[in-house]
Order: sequence, then structure tokens, then C-alpha cells
Amino acid sequence: MARREFVGKTDAMEPPQHSHVDVVVVGAGIIGSSVAYQITRRSHLKVLMVDKAPGPATGSTGASVAISRCRYTVPEVVRLAYCSQLAYRSWDEFTGLSEPISDYRQMGALWIFDRTTDQLAAEYTRLHSNGVAVEILSASDVLDRWPELDLCVAPVDFEALDNHQCRQGESFLYEVEAGIADPAGANADLVAASEREGVDVRFGTGVTDIVSDRGHVVGVRLDTGDEVTCGLVVNAAGPWCNQINEKAGAQRRWTLTPTRVQLVFREWGDTDPHLPITFDGSTDGCYRIERSGKQILLVSPEIPRFMASTSDPDDFRTNPDRECVEATLAAFQHRAPGVRHVGTTTGTSGLYTINEQDSHPIVGPSEIPGLWLVNGFSGHGFKLAPGIGAMVARAITGTEAPFDPDIRDDLFAIDRTPLATSGGVFA
Ligand SMILES: Cc1cc2nc3c(=O)[nH]c(=O)nc-3n(C[C@H](O)[C@H](O)[C@H](O)COP(=O)(O)OP(=O)(O)OC[C@H]3O[C@@H](n4cnc5c(N)ncnc54)[C@H](O)[C@@H]3O)c2cc1C
Repeated sequence: MARREFVGKTDAMEPPQHSHVDVVVVGAGIIGSSVAYQITRRSHLKVLMVDKAPGPATGSTGASVAISRCRYTVPEVVRLAYCSQLAYRSWDEFTGLSEPISDYRQMGALWIFDRTTDQLAAEYTRLHSNGVAVEILSASDVLDRWPELDLCVAPVDFEALDNHQCRQGESFLYEVEAGIADPAGANADLVAASEREGVDVRFGTGVTDIVSDRGHVVGVRLDTGDEVTCGLVVNAAGPWCNQINEKAGAQRRWTLTPTRVQLVFREWGDTDPHLPITFDGSTDGCYRIERSGKQILLVSPEIPRFMASTSDPDDFRTNPDRECVEATLAAFQHRAPGVRHVGTTTGTSGLYTINEQDSHPIVGPSEIPGLWLVNGFSGHGFKLAPGIGAMVARAITGTEAPFDPDIRDDLFAIDRTPLATSGGVFA
């Protein structure tokens, strides 16, 4: 299959061009490409999608751990995650590509959280009644399947690790169909599907300014010097979203903070690589086997000093901090004490944009006519992207399409009150 080549702008000096489209999407990460694809698969609107990077998945999307799971506190978000998971699980049908790069690997997700029996039953009902395949497992069920795990549910204090007293949980939530897709591949697939539907995709092309007229956003200025006028600009600039919103004078209500998240990769040794995706309530970390089965990927515990905010998404440390690596390994050792540490440990970090008020995104029209926001996804943007693109496109075009979520298009509106979460970035 022919793969698209991602080519940046040339150095040739040409006079600035003026052109007009219906919609400009700023940012071609998993969110922007999902929005562009979803608009053009259901309408004849002329869409231009620009990204300052030379190709897809250089921002948050490329760093994503790519977990798709559906346990959320708000039932509509459960349904949104579920319809997005169905899209990832039927990716060729969803994208219309005969040979997509991404596929879906079902791994199951185990939530080792401190919950009473009643709380767990409520979690079960919320997921099950919204279509998600879910089980409640007893401690012995879990240990029969994954004897490597320890089922302590007591919070771990990393300042006083020696004082930690384990307390074993009794029952646990298990999402049967949770799994992973391929973040860079899925992003490239959506770009390809967008182009097939007629989107003009330009990588290596940054938006330097938002053009306004009498309080309305009417277009963008590009770093080529060209100006594009349009009926609507969609800000899908990921961790750079505040820069675009500031240029337009939009969105001061929600605090969207680009935040560095650190990942550690550990060799998995000779143990059978069959662990589920594990959400660790004791440390607010999360673990999953890497696709090859030779590594385990550890997301660092959710501790403020390991999650530094940055005002400049172009300037952050990609190497993980030594202290964070040590704490992450200790957290995993606590969860899986029997797993031998062999070989090498590596790591990296990426940025995601935390919505400080409720960890949910801002999706919909801004207070400035002509500008839409699809921002602030915290750690949820990959798993929600297919459904989010559908919500935006359905609201803009008034047209439905297969895989659309059964939720209100204004669920994440800018003027909403904060939505419920279960605390932390797990939402
Ligand atoms: C370490 C880590 C782990 C994660 N794990 C998960 C997970 O397991 N599951 C999950 O659902 N989510 C996860 N996420 C979150 C998820 O990756 C993000 O929410 C999602 O990728 C956001 O996509 P995006 O398209 O909004 O942003 P991005 O991928 O950052 O795309 C934004 C694009 O905008 C472009 N851009 C910026 N400014 C301009 C400009 N002025 N002009 C033109 N283009 C511009 C950028 O070049 C970039 O390509 C994780 C994130 C990180 C960092």
C-alpha cells in the first residue's frame, strides 16, 4: 500500500496567497485529524487542516500510551469512550482504509482501587448499562489469572515508603474489552482517510495568527505568509491550544495546563507476558505490557512533582527524571513484587493538557463567534478521539454517521459546570 509522504513547506519565496475554505482545523494530531475526517465523511464542506510539525503524531499523540478503556464517572463519557473503542476495534470499517496501520489489541483492564462492595456494584452497573463488558473479580479470581500481582489498595506515600502498611482489597473491576491501538499509526490513518475525503492537509505549516473582523474569527494567517479566510476555525492544537486561544482572545474560563508526563520502560524478563492493563489506585499509576511482550510500560505515579507544568510546549525535558524513574519502579515493585527486574530500564516523557477544573475536555464553540475549541484532554484524548471528532462534526454539519456516540454534543461545552470525576486524572 502506498504510504503518504509528509513534506514541509519549501523555501521558495512566493507572494502571500489568499484563499477561502469552510473550516480550518489547526493541528493534525489524533483530535484534529479525527475532526477533519468526521466533517468530510458526512458533508461537502471544504476543510483545510494545518500542522506546524513535519508529520503526524509529533505532539501529545505520539507520546500516548494509547489505552482504550471506558471506566468514567459520568455515564455519557462511558458511552463516548465505548463508541470510540468500537471505532478502534473496527478501524478499517471506521476509516474506510483497506490497510490501516493501526489495529486493536484487547488486553483487559484491571482497576485495583479501594472500593466498598456497594461502590463496586455501582461502578459495574454504570459500565454494564452503557454497553461495556465488565466483571467484578474476587481477589482469588485475580490471583488465579495473574499470580504476579499484589492486591494492596492502601495509598502509597513515596515520602515514607518504609512505613507503608499493605492492606489487601477483596474485589476488583475488570474491563474485558479494554486494550490498545497504535497512536502514531491511528493518527496517520486518520490523516490518510481525511485526504481521501477531500481534506487539504498541510504539514510543516503553522498558524501564526488568528484573523478577526468585528469580534468574529474569520480566518488564519500561516507561517508561509498566506492568509486563509473561513467560516470556522477549529483549535485542535493540543498542548499549544492556549497560544491559539490567546491570539483570538478566547477561553479564559478553564485552566488548561500543558503537563509533562513521564514513562518508564522495563524489560519484562521471562515471565509470561499476559498481565492486564493495570490501573493502580495505590499510586495513581498505570502499567501495561508493550506489544512485543518483552517490556512493561509504566506510567509514573500521579505525584505533582513528577508532573511539571510548562508554559512553552516546545521546551520541556523529554528524558525522565532519575527520582521519578526510581519511584515508578518502586511503585511497580509494590504492585508486582514477584516480577524479577532484568535488563535495562529506559524512559521518555510527553505533554498532555490537563483541564485543572475537572480533567474533562472543552469541546464546542468558544465565546468568540467563528472559533471552536477541542482542547484540554488530559490523559483521555486518544481513547475519546473518534467519538469527539463525531460530536464536533455532527454539531457543525447537523448530519449523523456510523459510530456516532449516543450523547449530547454540548456535554463538554465551554459554559458547562465542571463534570464529575473520581479524582485525579483518571476522571
Ligand atoms: C505520556 C502520555 C500518555 C498518554 N496516554 C494516554 C492513554 O493511554 N489514553 C488516552 O486516551 N490518552 C492518553 N494520552 C493523552 C493523549 O495522547 C492526548 O490527549 C491526545 O493525543 C491529544 O491529541 P491532540 O490532537 O489534541 O494533540 P497533539 O497530538 O499534540 O496534536 C496537536 C497538534 O497541533 C499542532 N500545532 C500546535 N500549534 C500549532 C500551530 N500554531 N499551527 C499549526 N499546528 C499547530 C502540533 O504540531 C500538534 O501536531 C497520553 C498522553 C501522554 C503525553
